[in-house]
Amino acid sequence: MQNVASEVDFHLHTTASDGELTPTELVEAAVQAGVTWLAVTDHDTVAAVPEMQALCSRNGITLVAGVEISSRWQSQDIHVVGLGVDIGQPHFKDHLAAQMQRRRLRALAMGERLEKLGIQGVFQAAAAIAPQGIPARPHFAQALVGAGVCKDRKQAFQRYLAVAKPAYVKTDWPELEQVVNWISAAGGVAVLAHPGRYKLTRTKLGRLVEAFCAAGGQCLEVAVATHSPDMVQYLAGLCVKFGLYASQGSDYHGPSMRWVQLGKMPPLPSCCRPVRDIL
Ligand code: AMP
Ligand code: MN
Ligand code: MN
Ligand code: MN
Repeated sequence: MQNVASEVDFHLHTTASDGELTPTELVEAAVQAGVTWLAVTDHDTVAAVPEMQALCSRNGITLVAGVEISSRWQSQDIHVVGLGVDIGQPHFKDHLAAQMQRRRLRALAMGERLEKLGIQGVFQAAAAIAPQGIPARPHFAQALVGAGVCKDRKQAFQRYLAVAKPAYVKTDWPELEQVVNWISAAGGVAVLAHPGRYKLTRTKLGRLVEAFCAAGGQCLEVAVATHSPDMVQYLAGLCVKFGLYASQGSDYHGPSMRWVQLGKMPPLPSCCRPVRDIL
């Protein structure tokens, strides 16, 4: 099973978080790719949604207001996508603001780590290219490459930024259950993002899905560009077992990651109930 072009892509990033395309450029790219139903799912922010709304409707694209929220489950960072959230809901806005504050403090701490390693000025360089001056790890990676410290972003993650590397700072993300509740209370569908990417054993992955389900989560991201055919089938089976909907998304961040393309992902297995039915 290979990635195929789909008209539906429910996992996409813009320059409002760590994507390379502006919200407007992302819509233009979606038109080019023949995507007619998309969700923008930036990390811990919905800032791209207003800019995209008018442009999407002019181009006959259905836009789902989305977000990808960082959470914690058993000391593991887990991402939860919220689809169809009410971006004006005051509590939801407060929760996202708190997430950005956590990100700001983490970024400052990462900058200090790098200074102690003798690498100066990386926080400032990363903040200069980041939305709201709050750099995510990919902005640090770009700054490390720009400073000539690393040859590419992959090396920056491998040497400094990945889990347990010297500039990695553990963050007090909220519990998985809380994040699912925030999304549900904002009228959204909570989706367990890219379950195949957490490097969990199948037993532990099953437990994660169970916990997600118990917290009120409704959907698994089954068809993800980086999931193997085996993983897609395994997750489809978990959807059936737990009565969950299935989502599909590329997790596209921009043209420089050539192996991930907008609108391209494995097809959803036929046993799955697609989440688009409830959006
Ligand atoms: P953050 O949310 O600041 O922790 O950054 C996480 C983001 O960094 C992910 O959403 C990916 O876009 C990117 N990322 C994570 N791990 C890697 C890696 N090993 N190589 C390149 N990019 C990565
Ligand atoms: Mn990202
Ligand atoms: Mn993610
Ligand atoms: Mn993502």
